[in-house]
Amino acid sequence: MKRFAVMGRPIAHSLSPQIHQAFARQMGVSLQYEKIQPALADFEMAVKDFFSSGGEGLNVTSPFKERAWQMADVASPRAQAAQAANTLYIKDGLLHAENTDGSGFITDIERDYPLHEKRGLMIGAGGAARGLIQPLFEQGIHSLTLSNRSMARAEALKKNFPELLLCAVDDLEPQYDFIVHASAAGLNQNRLNLPEKLFSNQPYCYDLTYQLNADSAFVQLAKAMGCKAKDGLGMLIEQAALAFEIWHGLRPETKNIGACLHSIFSL
Ligand code: NDP
Repeated sequence: MKRFAVMGRPIAHSLSPQIHQAFARQMGVSLQYEKIQPALADFEMAVKDFFSSGGEGLNVTSPFKERAWQMADVASPRAQAAQAANTLYIKDGLLHAENTDGSGFITDIERDYPLHEKRGLMIGAGGAARGLIQPLFEQGIHSLTLSNRSMARAEALKKNFPELLLCAVDDLEPQYDFIVHASAAGLNQNRLNLPEKLFSNQPYCYDLTYQLNADSAFVQLAKAMGCKAKDGLGMLIEQAALAFEIWHGLRPETKNIGACLHSIFSL
């Protein structure tokens, strides 16, 4: 049977196996999809082992997306711009890297919120944030400010994307139309320390972190401050559909997958 997997650390929370199995049922494909949590130092070795033992496709999540791009022989334009990858596969004996996060994110956020001409704030400067910047600018946003716990990492990102504005968390003011939370703070069960005044002008809030049957910490905070807010489950499903298409040449329907996941996990 064809083998696929998602690699990350932590990985227990990942819904990717259920999503890919739902796509596979829909498209009449038979596959195995597992979760792999390599030790921090062992990511590259784990990727090589996976493909040399017959694996066909890998999704990569926090904190390995930048290392996934670095080890690829061929990077797609999206992965190259982001210098981060979430989808790996072998073609003609070469390791290919793609980044489907940005397209998945744009499809999902624009269902509710048109981005054109809007002033955005992104919190987080890791592998996921990297994948969203170019797609956001392609939507014709007015501006994008980046804020991160470690400003050195945000400054490194600005070297790739000079049009980014930077702001330290403590200096943030309520001047954004939308806020994208792309840090791993919720994932690690750590509280994200954001000034409440940031929400006082009612920005639209999107959290890349997702949680079934409960609001994520950032969504809870944003809603408590009276903002419209959505988590990243829709993005997760859309980026997975793009990875599925790369691996299988078939584009699955995404519309009912969220409801399907909720019903699996509420049993
Ligand atoms: P990385 O490990 O590459 O980056 C982590 C980022 O989070 C860094 O900016 C880091 O800051 C920041 N961070 C970590 N812990 C804290 C904390 N306690 N307080 C403040 N900032 C913190 O992770 P990714 O970028 O790959 O993933 C980020 C999140 O996005 C994860 O929760 C992941 O699950 C989610 N995600 C969701 C997707 C979806 O489809 N919905 C797709 C991709 C990711 P610093 O630089 O200072 O360490």
